[in-house]
Amino acid sequence: CGIVGYTGTRQAYPIVIDGLKKLEYRGYDSAGVALQQGDHLQVYKKEGKVAALEEFVGNQSTAGTTGIGHTRWATHGEPSDRNAHPHVSKSGNLAMIHNGIIENYASLKNELLKEGYSFQSDTDSEVLLNFIEDIKLNNNCSLEEAIRIALKRVTGAYVILIVDAAQPDTIIAARKGSPLVIGIGNNEHFLGSDASPMLAYTKEVVYINDYELAIVKPDELILKNLGNETITPFVQKLDMEL
Ligand code: GLU
Repeated sequence: CGIVGYTGTRQAYPIVIDGLKKLEYRGYDSAGVALQQGDHLQVYKKEGKVAALEEFVGNQSTAGTTGIGHTRWATHGEPSDRNAHPHVSKSGNLAMIHNGIIENYASLKNELLKEGYSFQSDTDSEVLLNFIEDIKLNNNCSLEEAIRIALKRVTGAYVILIVDAAQPDTIIAARKGSPLVIGIGNNEHFLGSDASPMLAYTKEVVYINDYELAIVKPDELILKNLGNETITPFVQKLDMEL
């Protein structure tokens, strides 16, 4: 299971696919990507290897300079196309990938079912995404604020990456208990479960800590805690060879 993200000036799809292949050693049962295309999110996902995803995508549109990718190790819901990540929120405006387990997903799911939500997958991850969107709509707040409120109510382990059709060139990421590294390039940022997807592009990385939220744009990396206080990123220089 692994996560990859890119926002910058290059095409995101080849960088994300390549990054997923670098994380293949972790083992997984399905793979998927979400690309920002103007005010539209394009999602492709498939059970099986990254090569199967690439074959499925074929010559469909992969344009976009912001994208996220996932390899899944199923914990809630069988390995299948519909349980593969990214998941798309009810409104269609948000796409999310998640590594880890949301332990209290069943009670959150019940709350949403009572509000009339229906689900496209059997995953704990789709519940978290719609829980976030539900908070955003009910409180009329920013996505960032909704994520903070939601994560205070979540138990378990996670690294999540979310893209919002209404916020081009932006990836919002958060973690607790699962690894997340952000690589800093020239007008571009890379996200990964470890540094291997970004080593070909940059050696400057920030290891994100538990309960931190990152707002990542091509030319900006904002780190905050769940209390909405800004944290100065601690940039480390890797002296790893490829
Ligand atoms: N719990 C999530 C699922 O079953 C994420 C699993 C993972 O870490 O890949 O879909």
